[in-house]
Amino acid sequence: MAPVGCAGGRTLAIPMVRDFCNASSAASAPGPIGWIEMDLTTIRHVAQPAARAELPAFLEGDSFLAGGTWLYSEPQPHLRRLIDLCALGWEPLSIGPDGVDIAATCTLAALNAAVFPAHWPAARLVAECCRCLMGSFKVWNMATVGGNLCLALPAAPMISLAAGLEGTCLIWSPDGSERRLSIFDFITGARQTALRPGEVLRSLHLPAAALRRRSEMRRASLTKEGRSAALLIGTRGAEGDVTLAVTAATPRPFRFHFERVPDASQLHDTLETALSPAAYHDDVHGAPAWRRHMTLRLAQEIRAALERDDGGSRPEGARRT
Ligand SMILES: Cc1cc2nc3c(=O)[nH]c(=O)nc-3n(C[C@H](O)[C@H](O)[C@H](O)COP(=O)(O)OP(=O)(O)OC[C@H]3O[C@@H](n4cnc5c(N)ncnc54)[C@H](O)[C@@H]3O)c2cc1C
Repeated sequence: MAPVGCAGGRTLAIPMVRDFCNASSAASAPGPIGWIEMDLTTIRHVAQPAARAELPAFLEGDSFLAGGTWLYSEPQPHLRRLIDLCALGWEPLSIGPDGVDIAATCTLAALNAAVFPAHWPAARLVAECCRCLMGSFKVWNMATVGGNLCLALPAAPMISLAAGLEGTCLIWSPDGSERRLSIFDFITGARQTALRPGEVLRSLHLPAAALRRRSEMRRASLTKEGRSAALLIGTRGAEGDVTLAVTAATPRPFRFHFERVPDASQLHDTLETALSPAAYHDDVHGAPAWRRHMTLRLAQEIRAALERDDGGSRPEGARRT
């Protein structure tokens, strides 16, 4: 098995399609694939563009491939071609004075291992959110930030991270143009994004202004290793203003802003006004009524922690309730 793709040389069972691609390009023509064991049996070609100009026109039956941890996890009979974004060779992370740019193909493992400037206390949320995806090392080493955002499961921890830290998505359009969307506009619902056919999520930007804030994160899951059913992130700026991101409990993320730390009833009323009981997500990872209950409870915990004048941040990771 050839060590290629986002995982940077790790050999796993998942990249069998990429093996086929290498084999087929050696033979110079893609074709029927009955001679090699594959998970996605309808795939006829894997494109591996090395630059943006090499991205093929997006056709019916195409899908972008990132880490493949979801794509290879269930049948995709409608697909004929994969376009391997990892072949583009993007630098996983770029840290600068205005914040951090995370390539869509950056793996959760690489993101978790990143070291950030000490004057960005909220950067601890990066690793904390990575750890909310309870996959094995195999999943962590292949799953990408972009794949997590584009799949747009309510429990996507990269949505939570981006929502908590005011992330912006850079999108490449097929006509060569680019556009930027706030994470709150990028995620439009459960398994729904603002991406148009053929558009590629290029990167996620987290601004330094958000990374400099104090932060608190709370998470609820039905089981110890389960998916997030509610994940809330609150931050407080030097001027005392507070933002609260509600994710996982709802099909898409919500953001609330307060000029100063709200009191308990103001926070309760704000959430209840904005999020009706029907606004909460319903799946096997949690019933809407429970998600609502946990959202209100975790929000109050965050409020109380941010109100304390003790530096706020909990030293040890996300807490499960
Ligand atoms: C054990 C296990 C646990 C998991 N737990 C969670 C969890 O808690 N939360 C969660 O959200 N997910 C979870 N997943 C699902 C999945 O592994 C993750 O969402 C992962 O981050 C997907 O990333 P990927 O790079 O593997 O995406 P892929 O499988 O390669 O792609 C996913 C989708 O996104 C599209 N896509 C990928 N990158 C781009 C891009 N840059 N631009 C445009 N489209 C793109 C693909 O075409 C595809 O439709 C879990 C999976 C496993 C196996």
